[in-house]
Amino acid sequence: MRHRIAVVGGGPAGLTFARVLHRHGYPAAVLERDPAPDARPPGGTLDLHEGLGQRALAKAGLLTEFQALSRPEGQAMRILDADGTVLRDWRPRPDEQANPEIDRGQLRDLLLGPLDVQWGRGVTQVVPGTSDGVLVQFADGRQETFDLVVGADGAWSRIRPAVSPVTPHYTGVTSVETSFDDVDTRHPDLARLIGDGSMAVYGVNRGLVAQRNSGGHVKVYAQFRAPLDWHTSLAPADPEAVRSSLLDLFDGWAAPVLDLLRYGRAFIPRPLYVLPVSHTWTHVVGVTLLGDAAHLMPPLGAGANLAMLDGAELAESIASDPADLDQAVRAFEEQMWARAGRWAKITTAGLERLVSPDPAEALALFDQVQPS
Ligand SMILES: Cc1cc2nc3c(=O)[nH]c(=O)nc-3n(C[C@H](O)[C@H](O)[C@H](O)COP(=O)(O)OP(=O)(O)OC[C@H]3O[C@@H](n4cnc5c(N)ncnc54)[C@H](O)[C@@H]3O)c2cc1C
Repeated sequence: MRHRIAVVGGGPAGLTFARVLHRHGYPAAVLERDPAPDARPPGGTLDLHEGLGQRALAKAGLLTEFQALSRPEGQAMRILDADGTVLRDWRPRPDEQANPEIDRGQLRDLLLGPLDVQWGRGVTQVVPGTSDGVLVQFADGRQETFDLVVGADGAWSRIRPAVSPVTPHYTGVTSVETSFDDVDTRHPDLARLIGDGSMAVYGVNRGLVAQRNSGGHVKVYAQFRAPLDWHTSLAPADPEAVRSSLLDLFDGWAAPVLDLLRYGRAFIPRPLYVLPVSHTWTHVVGVTLLGDAAHLMPPLGAGANLAMLDGAELAESIASDPADLDQAVRAFEEQMWARAGRWAKITTAGLERLVSPDPAEALALFDQVQPS
């Protein structure tokens, strides 16, 4: 039985969905707003958990290729206090495969493989329940109908309004991302401080996290409690203005730690938004959501993992019951909601502890998650 299936969004959720469906011999139209795979920087590194992202890759038949690309040594984690004292220095065993890191661009290319993504196809809205199925309207004015439209279009999903009136709300925490290259050759002291994986420094209501990507590239995230409009008075095109505001905010922190901000080039402010914990909806025939579109949560290492497993499980559910598409989607939704609800609680509580009035909370959280 051939159904007309479209997935909106070619991020981790949409690509994993399409790739697993493809493996089972079913096609899906992947509709992606970006004009090309490399239209914007792919973002930082992702750790893929054994029971989540790696499980999804196994369902796509891509685990061996992932292991060849990923960086198990990137699981290393060092925690410092604002004075620069190393409080924890956790290093993985050489065979540790619990959460290896992979650059997002590498993961995207791995998932893309044979998929024929339709680039430059931004969707504006979907209308379920027409006589010919679910109507998809595109930004260029065109429209098409499908039997199932899967919204994998991220935090600001255009598909979500077809099933739920809920929109993301601000957590009170803003993250500013910056990055620099060639850390080993240009900043060897900092390279030693960061180590093979991630380094995090926690202070009162703020933190600085540095993550090594492949090829000596380092991404830095400054996180702090701030009003939603913190960044609107700063010209994003003027990195010096943002740098200087951040250096004021982290004033008094150890000089090597502040080098993370001094060496950064562009600065990208990202107020952190979330959907309510345990977001669900009344099932709508022909439309469902995956990943951030369904359960946007604080970025504590779970979102892409959950997005991928959502995609893989929906594809498997459809492939195992192709005669009853709607039942396959319903069964998937129940499973996804339960898992996402558990993780939303964990990551929401985690953000409160990582960006907390008491920096000891962040350390206690690390000890809980990563007992040495
Ligand atoms: C700073 C930061 C660090 C993070 N670190 C981690 C981590 O280490 N581990 C982890 O698991 N998660 C992490 N996350 C979370 C993770 O990035 C997301 O949860 C994940 O990307 C969600 O995948 P997705 O496919 O649902 O959505 P997205 O990755 O947002 O992909 C959505 C896709 O849909 C496309 N799209 C959007 N609108 C439309 C439209 N109207 N029409 C067509 N296409 C559209 C977009 O261009 C995009 O390609 C982090 C997030 C942030 C912000």
